[in-house]
Amino acid sequence: MNQHTAPNDISAVVEADRRHVWHHLTQHKPYETSDPRVIIEGRGMRVWDATGKEILDAVSGGVWTVNIGYGRESMANVIRDQVLKLNYFAGAAGTVPGALFAERLVGKMPGMSRVFYSNSGSEANEKVWKMIRQISHRHHGGRKAKILFRERDYHGTTFGTLSAGGHAQRNAQYGPFVPGFVEVPHCLEYRSQWGAIENYGERAADAIEAVILREGPDTVGGLCLEPITAGGGAIVPPAGYWERVQEICRRYEILLHIDEVVCGMGRTGTWFGYQHYGVEPDFVTMAKGVASGYAAISCTVTSEAVFDHFKDDADDPLSFFRDISTFGGCTSGPAAALENMRILEDENLLENSARMGDRLLANLQGLMEKHAVVGEARGKGLFAGLELVADRTTKEPVPEAMVKAVVAECMANGVMIGAQNRSLAGGMNNALLFAPALIATKDDIDAITDCVDHALGRVFTH
Ligand code: PMP
Repeated sequence: MNQHTAPNDISAVVEADRRHVWHHLTQHKPYETSDPRVIIEGRGMRVWDATGKEILDAVSGGVWTVNIGYGRESMANVIRDQVLKLNYFAGAAGTVPGALFAERLVGKMPGMSRVFYSNSGSEANEKVWKMIRQISHRHHGGRKAKILFRERDYHGTTFGTLSAGGHAQRNAQYGPFVPGFVEVPHCLEYRSQWGAIENYGERAADAIEAVILREGPDTVGGLCLEPITAGGGAIVPPAGYWERVQEICRRYEILLHIDEVVCGMGRTGTWFGYQHYGVEPDFVTMAKGVASGYAAISCTVTSEAVFDHFKDDADDPLSFFRDISTFGGCTSGPAAALENMRILEDENLLENSARMGDRLLANLQGLMEKHAVVGEARGKGLFAGLELVADRTTKEPVPEAMVKAVVAECMANGVMIGAQNRSLAGGMNNALLFAPALIATKDDIDAITDCVDHALGRVFTH
């Protein structure tokens, strides 16, 4: 444990944190009487906190980001070398890692050809909607400007992305919102809006069409969906869903934007989540796993057909995409992303994600047999969820406090798992979430699910 020992003055660090850091998504009142958790170091699948506690991280840095695991020396080296060579130049010019990563990236995405760099998932998504609105202004008199988003999906924290947010509690106190964003129904069959029906997937996609027809197809410019809904409860789309969605988008000339901020870069066992379904999107956004949190980078990727709209009149000062992200010019981002991609390939981490994901899901499904509180286990690759219900017949969600108690019990036993974070309306914050790094071994997966097994036993029988 020596190498993970905290600095001598760690209590001063914790105190500085308690006094001065405003933590994300956190109620701070408890910190008046207890210490905030300060993470000191990470190696592979594990982190160590200021008390010296070793934690097996089943959520890749808390929000499913550190896909290649912690402490990679080669990542540090490429970032160091690049920063010394050229740390930054604004994105109106090219840079060596920016050009090389864009080429490598679109090589994994048939049909795509252009990469716009910025540095957060929210920002990458906003770029798409600005592009869609600009296309609307240039070709549809500004009318085809509405963006559809889906209940239970999440796209970020800025005003634009909140306006496209399907999580009621995240939005509750931040209105008024940006106009022109319209919600479509979710596709979680376990909580079907139409009772038990045979062709749920097609029905859920048809519900999108109903919204388009209600709004007027000539007013809808884009549809934004997560390929597999992550924070909204690990929702794997039902059979027939994506095929119908693609068909609908084509029928009404609606540009399809897939938000791969979580699922991108191997998380679900393919490079991108949409690649499980044979979909051909017009826009793909990605962030978390692009450089696994070693550098801040996000990408908005489009086809050449979309890009062509922005260079059709060189003399018109309004014809090009009038957008910049200052830190989209940090070269550490694409340099780290290139090395991240090399690691994913050389260590066969997509295959590992698929294989270990199957094991994770099988283990979680096994928990259904032991614990009546497990309503459903679902997932794809190394993103999985376990929905907890007070009653399997009525599917009444367990109180959120019980979900938190399971998470706390796992942490007490050295495993960090996740849960939906006070986000959805109607008491639906009841799924445990799992997204370990793509380097996870069988032993890691079993240790995670054994810990959950134990925690469910303790929380629901005591
Ligand atoms: N899209 C999805 C699907 C996400 O899960 C997130 C973040 N959890 C975002 C977008 C926003 O990313 P960021 O926090 O980097 O803005």
